[in-house]
Amino acid sequence: MSSLLEVNGLSKYFTAKTNWLGRPVSHVSAVDDVSFSLKAGETLSLVGESGCGKSTTGRLVLRLLEPTAGTIRYDGRDITRLEGHALRDLRREMQLVFQDPYASLNPRMTVGDILAEPLMLHGLVPPEKRKARVEELLDLVGLRPSHARRYPHEFSGGQRQRIGIARALAVQPNLIVADEAVSALDVSVQAQVLNLLKDLQARFGIALVFIAHDLAVVRHISQRIAVMYLGHIVEIAPTAELFAAPRHPYTRALLSAIPVPQPKASRQRIILSGDVPSPIDPPSGCRFHTRCPFAVDLCRQTKPAMEETAAGHSVACHRWRELPAAAPLPVESDQPGAARLARLQAKFSEPVSQTE
Ligand code: SF4
Repeated sequence: MSSLLEVNGLSKYFTAKTNWLGRPVSHVSAVDDVSFSLKAGETLSLVGESGCGKSTTGRLVLRLLEPTAGTIRYDGRDITRLEGHALRDLRREMQLVFQDPYASLNPRMTVGDILAEPLMLHGLVPPEKRKARVEELLDLVGLRPSHARRYPHEFSGGQRQRIGIARALAVQPNLIVADEAVSALDVSVQAQVLNLLKDLQARFGIALVFIAHDLAVVRHISQRIAVMYLGHIVEIAPTAELFAAPRHPYTRALLSAIPVPQPKASRQRIILSGDVPSPIDPPSGCRFHTRCPFAVDLCRQTKPAMEETAAGHSVACHRWRELPAAAPLPVESDQPGAARLARLQAKFSEPVSQTE
């Protein structure tokens, strides 16, 4: 199957400081040389610590930010420099679900008006059919038709996220970027919203770029995972492969931080020393070398290229072949978070209108 989205060498630098002439003298390297692809109906998760560039990557893909370098191809078309009407038409096909649904919903508009707005802007549904379409959208996300008359502040966090998803679905997109869409929710509500996203994705064949910092959540929803560190993708692999055989030391550290639901299971937590370096002055060579327990001189001098370690699994590390195999995870921890999520999903599988 050909790719719906192809990103090649994508970079974004923000100006950090200007001289007295207003010319930039230093910049923040938020995203640097990022490449990946996404098939129709597939979910790719971007994972990493705060400030690793995952949200900026999502916004670049949606053309909400102008890239400094690189190309974005969507459905075979180069959309990197698209403008005007062509860009507006593209926006109908690519939607964003925000982390904070409350901040993204106009508090002065009813939910019905919020959902009707994109239908009107894009001329998708004639006025006489908009009410029915709004009710259909509410039903899709597990809300009641009567909710259309309410305002955003009258809903819980999970319900507001459902409204955000309904608004994204209103224009029948092919691609959704969900930026930390469940991070601000309680774990039980997270499970509901994740299930909803999965169901809707399967039903409508929507491709999903899921941005998160929680690997347990990412595992539940994604087919592939890209791990980002300081603006770079350092490892990308099918989800099962990444959890079974992580190659990059940073990925291993992230995996080791996932809580294990077995009190007696022995896990070796990998504690990374130091903070994430400043993206204004990133380290030379491998950007992870200041915190990597396996760093050698080569790492400090030369940037590692992406190398394929197995089908669909690539890593940017000079030493991935020499590193000891990752310690096997205890049986339950082989599914970090999944057992807990499964229990919660069973418990909270009823429609939201009955549970929230
Ligand atoms: Fe560590 Fe070197 Fe690999 Fe970077 S290239 S992750 S510093 S071993």
